[in-house]
Amino acid sequence: MSTMQLDIVTPDRKVYSEEVEMVVARAVEGDIGILPNHAPYISPLQVTALKVKKNGEESFIAINGGFMEVHDNKVTVLAESAELPGEIDINRAEAAKKRAEERLAKEKQADIDFKRAQLSLQRAMVRIRVSKSR
Ligand code: ATP
Repeated sequence: MSTMQLDIVTPDRKVYSEEVEMVVARAVEGDIGILPNHAPYISPLQVTALKVKKNGEESFIAINGGFMEVHDNKVTVLAESAELPGEIDINRAEAAKKRAEERLAKEKQADIDFKRAQLSLQRAMVRIRVSKSR
């Protein structure tokens, strides 16, 4: 079966580097599926669970925004943070979700705080989902 290289990198570390058969990411314009030998492509990503197919098995990786680039049969994801299912502290994510929900429930917040709380809630929900995908 044909494969392509997938690298997921954050400012701190290389999170993932494997040969895979398929990647499905949530770009700004919607979900995009990448198969081997895809045409060159670049797009910002949403805070989302990246789906990866390797050796016929699907798994998920939590991605906190960033960019995806496809070039020469290589997919590179540069994200502010990213976690594999086994790296996620579910209690921490649940606590972050609760904090964000409480902030969002308060009225008369400045727009910027609202946006920040929404993004924080999204990160927490993606982490919870990815952690439970194990
Ligand atoms: P929190 O409010 O719990 O800090 P956050 O969404 O603000 O969450 P980030 O700023 O996105 O956290 O991430 C900071 C660092 O902590 C990154 O290295 C990220 O991978 C890691 N991280 C965040 N939440 C978790 C978690 N639930 N389990 C494991 N690592 C996490």
